[in-house]
Amino acid sequence: MRTRVATVVIVMVPSKRRLTLERAPRLILKAMADCCCPGPDHTDQAVGCRVCRTAGKPVDSLTVKALLSDAALARYEHAAYRFCPDATCAVVYFAESGPTFTTADVRERVWQKESPGDRTICYCFGENEADIAREIERTGQSAAVQRVRAHIAAKRCACEIRNPGGACCLGDLLAAVERLHQSRMSRS
Ligand SMILES: [Zn+2]
Repeated sequence: MRTRVATVVIVMVPSKRRLTLERAPRLILKAMADCCCPGPDHTDQAVGCRVCRTAGKPVDSLTVKALLSDAALARYEHAAYRFCPDATCAVVYFAESGPTFTTADVRERVWQKESPGDRTICYCFGENEADIAREIERTGQSAAVQRVRAHIAAKRCACEIRNPGGACCLGDLLAAVERLHQSRMSRS
């Protein structure tokens, strides 16, 4: 008999106000309903990062191969890779067996591993914290989520090969807009 493992969607926000399925179910579920990508296709038991032990999120091997530098790709071995979202850990991709790849091996800057302020959250359409903050400053709000939703509806995203996390950015973007909005409010 197969045991179903419940998937809890955790949107990584580097603050104590983390949006989780439990804390903000409506927001997250609404965001994920528009998601352009199917969920991970395997839900085997959690495998921890080989350096920091954080539970990794399964990523498609195509994502790993697309995001690795030429030199890193040359030592790629086929395995069930996972993405380490921990901000303090340099590992980006790891597998139970096989090589480990760090931020130095990846073509893109991985926003989860960078300091807040100027990070690109949406790798397909370039939505980033600096522009969103300016937009909020200027107009009191940001339409970044609506812009990305429109692109998703038009089938323009390629998260599997553009986003190092290999998944739709919408949940992350929603959390980023919310965080930047709160930070603007707390300053006024
Ligand atoms: Zn790690």
